Amino acid sequence: MIYLDHNATTPLSESVKECIKNNLDYFQNPSSLYKESKSVKMRINVARQNVAELINCEPNNIIFTGCATESNNTVLNSCFFKVLPDPKPKHLIVSSVEHPAVLETVKYYEKYYNVSVTCLPVDSKGRIDVNDVFNAVCDNTVLVSIMLVNNELGNCYQVEEISRTVHRINPEILVHTDATQAIGKMKVDVKKLDVDFLTLSGHKFYAPKGIGGLYVKDPLTLSPFFHGGHQEQGLRAGTENYLSIVAMGQAAEEAAKYTDYDRIRTLRDAFEEKVIRYIRGSTVLGDTDNRICNTSCLLFENYNGIDICEYVNRIAGICISSGSACSSKDLSLSHVMKAIGVRKIPIRVSLGRNTTQEDMDNLFKALMKATNILKSKEKTK
Ligand code: PLP
Repeated sequence: MIYLDHNATTPLSESVKECIKNNLDYFQNPSSLYKESKSVKMRINVARQNVAELINCEPNNIIFTGCATESNNTVLNSCFFKVLPDPKPKHLIVSSVEHPAVLETVKYYEKYYNVSVTCLPVDSKGRIDVNDVFNAVCDNTVLVSIMLVNNELGNCYQVEEISRTVHRINPEILVHTDATQAIGKMKVDVKKLDVDFLTLSGHKFYAPKGIGGLYVKDPLTLSPFFHGGHQEQGLRAGTENYLSIVAMGQAAEEAAKYTDYDRIRTLRDAFEEKVIRYIRGSTVLGDTDNRICNTSCLLFENYNGIDICEYVNRIAGICISSGSACSSKDLSLSHVMKAIGVRKIPIRVSLGRNTTQEDMDNLFKALMKATNILKSKEKTK
């Protein structure tokens, strides 16, 4: 198996597996008073420190959650409810290429609560015009939520510029960024970004699934989504998911040391060049001047991405996707493709830390075979 779908999820790294093995017997509830529990609590705080260092903040700015979806929901929910009761509708600004964990949530609030949403358009490369963000700000705006990196195209967005300008216009407006696809693939610094909230997810950077994080600049700006115990400064009730938290701490420590982004970018760029040269009608989608190092979204004029994914898997045991994993069951075009005006399903190749030149060569060969098979099938129709 050659795995090239790291934007969907990553495997556990060796050091994360080791960390989980070493922590299996620490089962005590971190809120209990005996010394064994204190040791569990202490290990959670070491993990918190590691996550904080990864994004350049203090440990008490980090809340552990169940996943990025929960972190995003918590921020959005907080903004709507914190300010109630208030007769004025709350206004928020998002982009049309956010993950469904943001877009579906704001649609829900728009439908059932006193909320209005500006969903910013993107151009054919998936770029946001930052002036559109500033022009959309109005008296009732409470939150701007723009992702740092798009999961399908790999586009990086100008969150720092957006955040600094929005805060200059009105310091009370909160800025959130979903950094799920950025962590472990680029340096992320919350102070530089000047954001109020940042979402991250363990399983995108070699930790297990079911553990996420939320950076909260000022805990007073966040209303909890889960009510109950006093865990996570009272901002996320529920007994801590100890094993996953320490695993994410280990993954964060590793991600902080990782710097080999250029190797991944070189592999990706060379692969794209070959595809464009040898497969007629192929195009690289997205903002090629401003993309995360590991993502390649390719459109084939003559072939459907789903067919290609199936063939490369069948021919060579290679795992790639036809867009975001969350929508892969729904075989229609994703909202991101619709937003950039693409009418055909592309493929998404997402490289990981362990991807080699050989993996990319094998993918290229499999792509050539797959397109030849599809071409001859088309001819015999
Ligand atoms: N946000 C982005 C940008 C994502 O790519 C994903 C998952 O692909 C999510 C949020 C949801 O992550 P999780 O599975 O941790 O809820």
